[in-house]
Amino acid sequence: MNMRTMLETVASKNPEKLAMIDERTQLTFAQFLQRTYRLGNALHHLHFYHGDRIAILMKNRAEYFEIYFGVSGIGGIVVPLNTRLGLAEILYILRHSGATALVYEDVFGEVVQQIKLQEKGLKHFICVGKPDEDYNYEDLIQEGSHEPPMSEALEEDVAFLCYTSGTTGYPKGAMITHKNVVTMCSNQLVELPRNRDEIGMVLFPFFHIGVVTAFNKISNGITSVYCDFEPHKVAGFIQKYRISDVEIPATPLRIFVNTQGIEHYDISSLKVMMTGGGFSSIDTLRKLFNLFNPDHDLRVANVYGMTENTAHVMSNVITPNNIDKAIEKMEALPGIKASGLGAGKPIYGIQARVVNEDGQPVAVNTVGEIVVKGDTVMKGYWQQSKITREVLRNGWYHTGDLGLQLEDGDFFVMDRKNYKIVTGDENVYPAEVESVLRDHPAIQDVAVIGVPDEKWMEIVKAVVVLVPEASVTEEELKGFCQGKIANYKIPKSFDFIDKLPVNAAGKVLKHQLKSSSQAVGESKNGGR
Ligand code: ATP
Ligand code: MG
Repeated sequence: MNMRTMLETVASKNPEKLAMIDERTQLTFAQFLQRTYRLGNALHHLHFYHGDRIAILMKNRAEYFEIYFGVSGIGGIVVPLNTRLGLAEILYILRHSGATALVYEDVFGEVVQQIKLQEKGLKHFICVGKPDEDYNYEDLIQEGSHEPPMSEALEEDVAFLCYTSGTTGYPKGAMITHKNVVTMCSNQLVELPRNRDEIGMVLFPFFHIGVVTAFNKISNGITSVYCDFEPHKVAGFIQKYRISDVEIPATPLRIFVNTQGIEHYDISSLKVMMTGGGFSSIDTLRKLFNLFNPDHDLRVANVYGMTENTAHVMSNVITPNNIDKAIEKMEALPGIKASGLGAGKPIYGIQARVVNEDGQPVAVNTVGEIVVKGDTVMKGYWQQSKITREVLRNGWYHTGDLGLQLEDGDFFVMDRKNYKIVTGDENVYPAEVESVLRDHPAIQDVAVIGVPDEKWMEIVKAVVVLVPEASVTEEELKGFCQGKIANYKIPKSFDFIDKLPVNAAGKVLKHQLKSSSQAVGESKNGGR
């Protein structure tokens, strides 16, 4: 099965049902399918063929799905671009993917002008909104025939190139196939069964692999509401449409529960939330549960995943009834304070293990690299065969994340392999130290890194952003860590800065911090 057949099946069963509602439009499944046909046929007229790449620079809006399904429906490959990328990063991805067309929203007109000046490989520019000189998306759709396009994709064909967040270097283009997507849609359904009558909402950016949660709703004939993330707007939509299921990344969820006035909306229709992409915080989940009556039945699926596995690898369902147990489990970990609640168990269809440097499984409670296997693992990185061979070995995708498995099968994610600090003969997982420091009231944000040291090989350093107007000394922070983590894990030095460098996905760029902290040397700044 490919993505097009998936949509055809659901549209034939639910033609009149609303597939999606966004701030501008709403489409039934039959209308949605027909517009994907029109787009595919119109692209054929522009000499866009099987295997060609088309990039998208657009915010979350319904047209995004027409492009995903319309382009992949004729065997083309979609290259979604993170809207927060700078010009240089966009140009890198356009060139690396070899895209020949770009669909953009008119609000990105200025950056598109720059792209036109610097990138000559793009033959077609298609504008959603008001174009100056380019094809208008809506005109193009209307020009295309409504008949099913002749050309189609095979299961193993690439449907889209999803560039990773670029947290540890240049983004890599994960080749996500039709089979990967179709399998993930059914895996997610087995894992977290949905009611067809529900109304869902997806707040993952559509350029991110989290978009598969929206594909999952489409494939199940569920109506979804889409909007940009703005807490009051989101709460207002949940209230208006009686939304029962929201998919939201970890950081927006934290912002949502901390937004003043959210408690005044009636969001009692909400029964399921899926969140992930980073460490989940207990504080956030508690605040979320506090927005509801004590007996309200809300399940939060805390998900661990990555682009290369078409998103979900593991899921841990937390409810108001089991959160205390989940915390107890975390606190009982052998010699380690976990950075967040456990990642749970692999989802249906996925095998996961913890292995040593030789790829051999390690004993329970032992830290090693998490590796995963299943039909959702990407085909490889686009035009990066060397790195592909390094991460895909004997069908196992090596995540680059360190973790451990408990006796009962639950996994905990410790940190990225690259981030591990070796000080003396001891290993320190920065995420563990960060989670301790983050609880200090004066700390707004913190990143822990290892810096070279003659005696210890590396020493632990914390780079701290203080809450505005707050003041704290290095000694106070060291004292705060005492008793909470082993002495060798307590940072030996602290830097205080105004803002941590983050990438377009909001993740901290530690390699940048490391190189700047080496250039500047150790700061003895004792706070503000
Ligand atoms: P790059 O691979 O380019 O460095 P990236 O790994 O940040 O970028 P993504 O695929 O978006 O790009 O992120 C996946 C990573 O995010 C995982 O490998 C893991 O390190 C982290 N992650 C995802 N979910 C969780 C979670 N629930 N808890 C902790 N970490 C998580
Ligand atoms: Mg990665």
